[in-house]
Amino acid sequence: MSKKRRYIRYLVLLLILFAVAVHEVIVDAKISSWEQTLEVRLFAINADGERATNKYIRSLKQADFKAVESFINRGAERYGITIKAINFTYAGELISRPPDVPLENSVLGNIIWSLHFRAWALYQSFQIKDGSSDIDLFINYFDTSKTKSLRHSVGLKGGLIGVINGFADNGYRGSNNVVIAHELMHTLGATDKYNQLNQPAHPGGFAAPFQEPLFPQREAEIMGGRIPLSATKAIIPDNLDLVVIGAFTAAELNWYGL
Ligand SMILES: [Zn+2]
Repeated sequence: MSKKRRYIRYLVLLLILFAVAVHEVIVDAKISSWEQTLEVRLFAINADGERATNKYIRSLKQADFKAVESFINRGAERYGITIKAINFTYAGELISRPPDVPLENSVLGNIIWSLHFRAWALYQSFQIKDGSSDIDLFINYFDTSKTKSLRHSVGLKGGLIGVINGFADNGYRGSNNVVIAHELMHTLGATDKYNQLNQPAHPGGFAAPFQEPLFPQREAEIMGGRIPLSATKAIIPDNLDLVVIGAFTAAELNWYGL
């Protein structure tokens, strides 16, 4: 490669990185000011190539994800946001697959995966011609008869993207929506509020942290992830009707003092 061509390559790469950085700064300002509705898109991916998964994806429609939009907007309204916080669009199936979330939790592995995922998502946004968005989410669907447990899902605040692993089954629609909402909250700046044993952390991960007696709780806090029944037992909520956005999470989203 000639020196000139190499120079042009670097320049193009720099321009792309600059465009990504500018986009992130703009959306970040939008997120922290809450003066404009954020556009969120969700793409479905057949992650195991199964026919059953394909059939399920073909049955999906916008209404199947309505609960996610209502959940976030209801929460925002409760904390004083006067505009519609998010507009959630189901954008259909995507043929490409995001890089697999690493199984081991190593810092370097996570950094490399996160860069890989961001590059992949950036490439997808160039490929998708119609419309634009502030945040893109990708849901990997797996057939329940072939896959019994899922890798964890990830939402990146810096990248404004998230990958969700879900089951291609109507019975899991509600719990898939809980995971979508959780990862979306991560992209908006919320942090996890549970410990290594998946037990919600008190007080931030509780829906009613100052209730007496404290247990059992009736609902889950979105970043706590589960409904705490006792100090050692917590269950996964079936749907978003059993989940709330707690005050500690709302503060991370800057839903106070606007
Ligand atoms: Zn999380």
